[in-house]
Amino acid sequence: MFYYASMAIEYREEPCKVGLNRVKGMPFRWSLNPYTGCAHRCTFCFVRAFEARADRPFDDRYGRSIRVKVNLPEVLRRELARRSWKRELVAVGTATDPYQPAEGRYRLTRRCLIELTEARTPFHLITRGPMIVRDIDVLADAARRADVSVTFSVPTLDPEIWRRTEPGTAPPRQRLRALRQLVDAGVKAGVGMAPILPGLSDRPDLLEDVVREARAVGATGVWANLLYLRPGTREHFMANLARDWPELLTRYQAMYEGRAYLSKAVAEPVRRHVTRLQERHGVADRRRVRLEPIPELEPLQLQLVDAAAASVTAVPEPAIQPPTAAHA
Ligand code: SF4
Repeated sequence: MFYYASMAIEYREEPCKVGLNRVKGMPFRWSLNPYTGCAHRCTFCFVRAFEARADRPFDDRYGRSIRVKVNLPEVLRRELARRSWKRELVAVGTATDPYQPAEGRYRLTRRCLIELTEARTPFHLITRGPMIVRDIDVLADAARRADVSVTFSVPTLDPEIWRRTEPGTAPPRQRLRALRQLVDAGVKAGVGMAPILPGLSDRPDLLEDVVREARAVGATGVWANLLYLRPGTREHFMANLARDWPELLTRYQAMYEGRAYLSKAVAEPVRRHVTRLQERHGVADRRRVRLEPIPELEPLQLQLVDAAAASVTAVPEPAIQPPTAAHA
């Protein structure tokens, strides 16, 4: 185990035994997280609730000690090589941001994406980190071999709300610029407006700012979710709310009294409003180049291709579907 400290954050290099984690009740079957803990330290981070359940710090200390799974790419490679691996969808970054600052040094996310690419395994990645543009080459290669998509979390463009609730993240407009680069490269990338904070980022003009800018940078879709507060996250978020927006505290306490999720009466109008904005601004998949998986060659087809290469004699045309990209 190796420790070093940077900007009051401790990085613990600890090998892992398991890479892919099985997930139930979600649209994906597996999750992958190169790090444990997240230096972005969002006040609303749902992972704080898991930390509280595990009896680990979920308050201001969360995100100050990051576990770095230094051997994850090797473990993942072995898991993906198993005959039992069915190439089910892997969600990258479900419990920590895969492009938090540590990735600049360790490159674990990049190396894991390369392993997923080699294994033609589809993946969806969610991040607030513009550092992802460093790996456009890997993402583009992956998108030619399996279904690949990226979501940038951009709950608001409001500088004050961002600064107070997502203290360790890059500015939202930087994320949108990164999104534009991915889309221009042909990679499917959309915006997740989550979490929207009642009484703060749910203002119609602020919602429209995000949707309009998402459209401007070519986001392939937009979805929205409102804040939910499980024990652990709740205490930390409420403490920060009391510091930054004390006038909202009573309202929040009433809205989340005895519940983690907002009532439908509060949440649904916001979701519907975002859907209307998405339609009004025409947010849709408008990529000029769409990278899509090339069907994998069967062994017999490979033999035919090899034979064709080795012989001047004509051989039957293998049933290969040629395009590497579909132009919209
Ligand atoms: S970026 Fe995501 S994982 Fe990291 S602190 Fe924020 S909400 Fe949590």
